[in-house]
Amino acid sequence: MKVLLVEDEKKIAEFTAKGLREHGFVVDVATNGDDGLGMALIGEYDLLILDVMLPGRDGWSVLTELRGRGTQVPALFLTARDSVGDRVKGLELGADDYLPKPFSFAELLARIWTILRRGPVRQPTVLAIGDLKLEPARMTAFRGGTRLDLTPKEFSLLHLLARRRGEILSRHYIAQQIWDMNFDGDSNVVDVHIRRLRIKVDDPFETRLIKTVRGVGYALDDGA
Ligand code: CA
Repeated sequence: MKVLLVEDEKKIAEFTAKGLREHGFVVDVATNGDDGLGMALIGEYDLLILDVMLPGRDGWSVLTELRGRGTQVPALFLTARDSVGDRVKGLELGADDYLPKPFSFAELLARIWTILRRGPVRQPTVLAIGDLKLEPARMTAFRGGTRLDLTPKEFSLLHLLARRRGEILSRHYIAQQIWDMNFDGDSNVVDVHIRRLRIKVDDPFETRLIKTVRGVGYALDDGA
């Protein structure tokens, strides 16, 4: 999951980005509205977190511009303002939610998962592939009722494969989505993590879900 955070208050931006990264998100940060708009237009984000009061172009203007160009990425406004009028304005502009500052990280995370579940990606509460079950909001995964002990990165990787079940995802795409890095050809970070994931997700069980497509990438499929 890739998130763009547009926030000019350094402390809030750092604390929010750090928390999201710890929960397996890839986070880009912009500190003004114009940069935010530019990044949102070219980056493939799953969610925008927009502060309203920004230097230059404000958060509302960023979203208005994006919606005007047909971008449907879900957006959550983060702001000190808490009047009903502002809330209504944000929602009318096509925001998915609105969180007044100060906020707790737990609440932000809960709102994010609510938005992502109903957003264009249509995240169900539980993703099931064969006997594999993922609960993204809790970052937990089970196989046949056994809880898998995954790191946040491993969970993100499994979640990505599960969301795109049956599709072959290239190493390049996986590296971009999970590590926010451009694959340099020599890096085997994806292969290493797939190997670790297999030890936990596939080795103890009868059916292997993670498939290698030689020379291309990986897919997750229960073969059904
Ligand atoms: Ca601000």
